[in-house]
Amino acid sequence: GPDASPARQSKQHIVEIDNVSKLYPSAEGKATWALLDVSLAIPDGEFICAIGPSGCGKTTLLNMIAGFIDPTHGEVRFDGERITGAAPERGVVFQEYALFPWLTAQRNVEFGLKMQGMGKAERRDRAAEALEMVGLGGAAKRYPFELSGGMRQRVAVARALVNHPRILLMDEPFAAVDALTRSTLQTELLRIWEDIGITIFFITHNIEEAVYLGDRILVMSPNPGRVQEVVDVDLPRPRQRSDAEFGKLYAQVSGIFHQQGDSGD
Ligand code: ADP
Ligand code: MG
Repeated sequence: GPDASPARQSKQHIVEIDNVSKLYPSAEGKATWALLDVSLAIPDGEFICAIGPSGCGKTTLLNMIAGFIDPTHGEVRFDGERITGAAPERGVVFQEYALFPWLTAQRNVEFGLKMQGMGKAERRDRAAEALEMVGLGGAAKRYPFELSGGMRQRVAVARALVNHPRILLMDEPFAAVDALTRSTLQTELLRIWEDIGITIFFITHNIEEAVYLGDRILVMSPNPGRVQEVVDVDLPRPRQRSDAEFGKLYAQVSGIFHQQGDSGD
């Protein structure tokens, strides 16, 4: 309507993580602080990458923004409201393709809409649009076993995009594909991000990937899981891995990462 709420202004923080801690109980009674006192605000439209060694709480943080798990202390807000569960406006893409092998690409993409009760014609249109966006317009009728690893991961991205989410939560989404495919998927993800103006929270083990993709890089450290540093990536886009400035940022992030005694790659 005409009275657009100020809370919808574009520069607002779409995600606010406020003094969040997460304790997982363990069988031996020895509890793990997967996250301790983590605060972070993500501006609407930002591409933020999270890196850090295994066990530093990256997936836990993503699962909280997705609404799959609750913090033990603190609060996570989306658009100013406390997150209490999953919602289609927060789309998730995992490393494993997690596609239904008995459904075509198109039906995999449509599946969530069907569950929400959307009619067939609209579902078809939305799925076609999402598959087109990830460059799979011609593969709608193929089954997962007929698709390469990179194509399967594009279907997983389309399955999130079909809900017209406001944020994409991606947990090492390109870790399982070969280097060449990975670089193609990165470029295409950037194109989609620029085209539709979505916010992206992207977990990776790969420093180069973080420097190539991110507006900012959240460097985390383990035991307990904390934010070690947030690095601004002030490089113009499209970025060139061969640029001296790219190399400098890579070295900076790499230095921060390796301060922590290290188990990462
Ligand atoms: P990352 O994604 O950075 O590898 P995770 O968020 O998966 O880190 O895990 C953070 C810490 O919490 C680790 O020590 C992990 O073993 C522990 N953890 C994660 N999920 C669970 C769970 N469901 N139950 C118990 N401990 C967990
Ligand atoms: Mg993880």
